[in-house]
Amino acid sequence: MTHYTDHYINGQWVKAQSGKTFEVHDSTTEEVFATVPQGTRAEAEQAVLAARAAFDSWSQLPVETRCGYIDKIVQGLKDRTDEMGTAIAREVGMPIKLAKMIQVGGPVFNWGNAAKVARRFVWEDKVGNSLVVREPIGVVGCITPWNFPLNQITLKVAPALAAGCTVVLKPSEIAPINAMILTEIIHAAGLPAGVFNLVNGTGPEVGEVLASHPEVDMVSFTGSTRAGKRVGELASQSIKRVALELGGKSASLILPDADLEAAVKGSISACMLNSGQTCSAHTRMLVPESRYEEAKKIAQTAIAKLTLGPSLDESTRLGPLVSAAQRDRVMGFIEQGIQEGAEVVAGGPQKPPFDKGYFVQPTILRVKAIDTLAKEEIFGPVLVIITYTDEAEAIRIANDSIYGLGGGVWSNDEAHAVAVARRIRTGQIDINGAPFNSNAPFGGYKQSGNGRENGKFGFEEFLEFKALQFKPATP
Ligand code: NAD
Repeated sequence: MTHYTDHYINGQWVKAQSGKTFEVHDSTTEEVFATVPQGTRAEAEQAVLAARAAFDSWSQLPVETRCGYIDKIVQGLKDRTDEMGTAIAREVGMPIKLAKMIQVGGPVFNWGNAAKVARRFVWEDKVGNSLVVREPIGVVGCITPWNFPLNQITLKVAPALAAGCTVVLKPSEIAPINAMILTEIIHAAGLPAGVFNLVNGTGPEVGEVLASHPEVDMVSFTGSTRAGKRVGELASQSIKRVALELGGKSASLILPDADLEAAVKGSISACMLNSGQTCSAHTRMLVPESRYEEAKKIAQTAIAKLTLGPSLDESTRLGPLVSAAQRDRVMGFIEQGIQEGAEVVAGGPQKPPFDKGYFVQPTILRVKAIDTLAKEEIFGPVLVIITYTDEAEAIRIANDSIYGLGGGVWSNDEAHAVAVARRIRTGQIDINGAPFNSNAPFGGYKQSGNGRENGKFGFEEFLEFKALQFKPATP
């Protein structure tokens, strides 16, 4: 059991004051394996002031100097991959093999990529009699969720630091251990005091200080649409920039001419990664009515291979959910779906055969487009199938959501798939199961948010424009 007792403020580990802690549970055993301190408003304010004081000198450093620190952080993460992967497998529940590859490998790439983007970035441009320069926006408050915890932190903190901003991070209280290890790595990299600060705490206490403090210039938030709305409301009082990365209910639209086997298997994978606890998970599979029976058989065979198991077991394909609360919420949705008349294609609300752990069976339900489960973000291993009769109806269903984050289109005719993809109002669409691209913009339409992360698009979020005008030379 590890007891963390400090926040990280102004380049130092500082004893937390409240005496209150968060318990961090191992998702497989349900045991408490670590605790972190619960921060106060005063501690969050101290961290903001430290970031403010550090901004002038950090933002004036040559880009290469800032990126040199980031290179050290990349090395530190590589050196501690096993420890980091194990911590995330325990606190989030993702199987260890995947956790190391995705939850640590992703951040290693994205820290390095932030430095690469900054090094290549064109910082100024002549426009008529103006010189347009890009400058770091200032102090950034970063608030992050538990599902891909280190990566969500990385996609904010790495580009913000590379751009010349200073940062206060409030990680998820449910999976905070990765953030503690990262902070140790950042400390060892020797960043100047105040450039990076970490305060653990609840959203309403520490998170709301970051969203509302007048010395914070930008708040970058990833989490639920509910909390994102609150952050936006608070931030509006000081007109700070707000980047919101929120929930999703993405559709995988299988057109009638698609390779059904590949499309159904691909949709299931894109739904079930991290036990469905992925914002851009393809959680609605849209299938032509005429091919439903065929699709159902393929889905039943594919899902049977997703065996549940302990997150630290190398052979586990699907781990437990993050917490008891999340398990109960997801079970509640499955039960509600069945009450509303869903057909159970696979899985269901029966308890999986484990004495301990927040397990839920991977479940597929056929629902109608108007049902609750076709609308709500479930955030668990639950795929809904919705059938359609023609393409116009399929596109209408795909767009019939308050969200617009990810999605997929499957067809043997790629040009046709692209034409359909252009009509879906969402930030990312994979054509025929194409892989994730860490340099393409990631973010949402509608209530999935208003920010973009990844590569140069994510980097530019942390910059301001400044225009310097010159008098035209007199003839
Ligand atoms: P959450 O909204 O409960 O919490 C996210 C973070 O916000 C946490 O750090 C929490 O403490 C903080 N928070 C909560 N209330 C707050 C408040 N009033 N003020 C300031 N901060 C507050 O979300 P979660 O359960 O941790 O994560 C799951 C959600 O995150 C899902 O909806 C998922 O779709 C979304 N998500 C989105 C993306 C994306 O890039 N779009 C990525 C990952 C997760």
